[in-house]
Amino acid sequence: MAVSSPQLITFGCRLNTYESEVMRGHAQAAGLGDAIIVNTCAVTKEAEKQARAAIRRARRENPQARIIVTGCSAQINPGQYTAMPEVDRVLGNDEKLKAEAWLPSQPESIVNDIMAVKETAHHLVQGFEDRSRAFIQVQNGCDHRCTFCIIPYGRGPSRSVPIGAIVDQVRALVGAAYNEVVFTGVDVTSYGPDLPGQPSLGQMIRRVLALVPDLPRLRLSSLDPVEIDDDLWRLIAEEPRLMPHFHLSLQAGDNMILKRMKRRHSREDVLNVCTRIRAYRPDVAFGADIIAGFPTESDAMFENTYNLVKEADLTFLHVFPYSEREGTPAARMPQVAPPIRKERAARLRALGTKQMRKFQERYCGRELLVLAERDGLARAENFLPVHLDQTASEGRLIRVRTLDIQDSKLRATALMEDHYGILAQEEQSRTGRAGRARSQADAPQGGTRAGAAYGI
Ligand code: SF4
Repeated sequence: MAVSSPQLITFGCRLNTYESEVMRGHAQAAGLGDAIIVNTCAVTKEAEKQARAAIRRARRENPQARIIVTGCSAQINPGQYTAMPEVDRVLGNDEKLKAEAWLPSQPESIVNDIMAVKETAHHLVQGFEDRSRAFIQVQNGCDHRCTFCIIPYGRGPSRSVPIGAIVDQVRALVGAAYNEVVFTGVDVTSYGPDLPGQPSLGQMIRRVLALVPDLPRLRLSSLDPVEIDDDLWRLIAEEPRLMPHFHLSLQAGDNMILKRMKRRHSREDVLNVCTRIRAYRPDVAFGADIIAGFPTESDAMFENTYNLVKEADLTFLHVFPYSEREGTPAARMPQVAPPIRKERAARLRALGTKQMRKFQERYCGRELLVLAERDGLARAENFLPVHLDQTASEGRLIRVRTLDIQDSKLRATALMEDHYGILAQEEQSRTGRAGRARSQADAPQGGTRAGAAYGI
């Protein structure tokens, strides 16, 4: 089966999603229309196993295609991919973002020392396959050394994208009718110290929102709970365009385990941060990354993590059974048996389902402004998923009334009246200028205000 334009197979984080869009452009420009690009992740052994399986499947289904492998797993251990007969090229994490590295004249495998990279090259992405929201890289790399984590060896030192480049990127995406952008990176709260004037993450966001008044929704991909700067606190308290949804890089809820992970926060810090944010934004929702079965974790320590989810009222749980990564200090610690890791992960996921149900129940019969995604799914400002009773155009902002919960889904119906008015009013009050009602322009002229006008 001939492959027409570059095909991207992306694993891992939102930063990889952003970079895959950059690579699509580079491969296309280099005339690699038949390429299959596998953007790998190294966070867990499972992620690497899945990448190798995807490579073999891609070769079976596309015998003629050029298969190019990149991403953190390829950066950390390129040999495991150059040794695969299915693989044509291997590119490191820095090289993958350079247009010239994609030229056919280049060597088969280019993976340089990522620790030597000092700057983050910036690329203007015009859009994403997913039309609902756009991911923007604002930071890359990490200077921390959490004992379980291999990422710094795949991503290199922390480095920030200059504010001007971020503003240009946001403007380009707003110009392409994106209503929501997500700022992503490896350790976003480390933004700034490598830039002139050392702007903090909060200062950068404030500047971007001031220079792009037309951006309705800004979301952060993750937050280190103890690295929220003063400007960011003020934005959380005062800026309605900063979405009340924060994904915490929590990892555990027991202080001894957090210490052995070399994390910078305690369970008390997490509780204080959640309480403070909730006081400013009562509608806030929290997500968290949690590792189950970290080495030396006893039943009592695990219960501390389990209880913290309830005490902090966390909703969106990303749970990982601990996966030892060769070369990390944690891999040399006394291990918890894999079946116990899995059992603890299953308990946390079940708790996550209960937390989501509680969250949904709180929002039955409410009026919300949601962003439409695919297949009738839409998300509220706090990332609450709702299921519309009719499909809507991806990326469109719609005012809905939530109904009830069916099959664990919170159902909602679109409110047709005043949709444009509300947006215009909000914009007016924010900018003092007559609002640009996004959907007005694309609404069919003379059409009824039913269905089609809202792209539903
Ligand atoms: S902060 Fe820790 S967990 Fe996150 S990327 Fe850096 S080393 Fe890894």
